[in-house]
Amino acid sequence: MKSFEWVQPESVAEATAALAHPGAMALAGGVDLLDRLKERVDAPSRLVSLRRLPLAEIVEADGETAIGARVTLAQIAADPKLARSHRILADAASHAATPQVRAMATLGGNLAQRPRCWYFRSEAFSCKKNGGATCFAHAGDNQLHAIFGNATCAATHPSTLATALVALGARVAIAGKASRTVDLHGFFLAPEKDLAREVDLAPGELITHVVVPKLPATVKTAYTKQVAKQSFDWPIVDVAVALRMDGGTCKEAKVVLGAVAPTPRRATEAERVLTGAAVDVITAGRAAKAAVTGATPLAHNDHKVAILEVVVARTILAAIGKAV
Ligand SMILES: Cc1cc2nc3c(=O)[nH]c(=O)nc-3n(C[C@H](O)[C@H](O)[C@H](O)COP(=O)(O)OP(=O)(O)OC[C@H]3O[C@@H](n4cnc5c(N)ncnc54)[C@H](O)[C@@H]3O)c2cc1C
Repeated sequence: MKSFEWVQPESVAEATAALAHPGAMALAGGVDLLDRLKERVDAPSRLVSLRRLPLAEIVEADGETAIGARVTLAQIAADPKLARSHRILADAASHAATPQVRAMATLGGNLAQRPRCWYFRSEAFSCKKNGGATCFAHAGDNQLHAIFGNATCAATHPSTLATALVALGARVAIAGKASRTVDLHGFFLAPEKDLAREVDLAPGELITHVVVPKLPATVKTAYTKQVAKQSFDWPIVDVAVALRMDGGTCKEAKVVLGAVAPTPRRATEAERVLTGAAVDVITAGRAAKAAVTGATPLAHNDHKVAILEVVVARTILAAIGKAV
């Protein structure tokens, strides 16, 4: 492993200054980044530890909830207020990884973690993300890869918390030369925009908080993570749904698909089917069919299309309290 400088700032301003150094990288829980160093995917010149930054609290203000970037997945999963106000976020956090990983992994690191594509993570393959000319998943082992938006690079975005947070309409607060807040969905970058980055963070920038708006009581939500085995696992697909209801009629719908594309995907066709419709088993089935429209599965992952359709239908029905 290449040697690197170790910096442990005490404030966000010190951290962003330290991160502006060429080749510097932020280190939060280290669950992803330390693997990448060991796998030789990254060789930073400087590691900037976020451990001492005052970003480990969940705070309610002006009707919104601001979750610090250093808040762990375990904290999110166990927070009683979040369990009441934004249950799908707590669900997504409690179903991610293992108790040991959740105790270390932070929200900021979870959103900025890099894809788990085995070709990207192997020093034996110089894939497009690593500056090469080939996406090896296209002709290779691709059973867990993307079924949408996979023409340039077939790696899926790994964050399952992102699926729930996009459905909740979350925003990301970013510190750097100029502080800014962006819509979380737009924070994720498709490979056609930038192959080398999955998130809209420039050198010297740091996620400080994720801000989640208050949900009116009329918004009904559900989250499902479909895994291959009962114990901890990465998802085959995960789905989050938020429906603003007026009685039995859906006035506004968000259907978000995870682990199926290089970024969390809004299923806009499914949202169109739901909006203005009475939500029942028939509509949920039609919306689910619409959600998989346009899928471009690879040689070994068309099972993901069939699984996704079922999980979307079930999650819509779970949101309105009709679990099947
Ligand atoms: C067995 C296993 C199963 C897993 N299952 C799941 C799962 O089901 N769902 C899921 O979502 N994840 C899963 N993970 C991944 C895990 O949740 C992430 O690796 C973890 O959340 C990363 O957080 P971290 O704090 O350790 O980040 P780090 O490893 O410290 O950092 C990750 C990346 O984010 C950057 N970064 C960290 N903090 C910030 C910040 N505040 N601002 C800007 N950049 C930042 C770092 O520079 C680095 O590039 C699993 C991991 C394992 C080992």
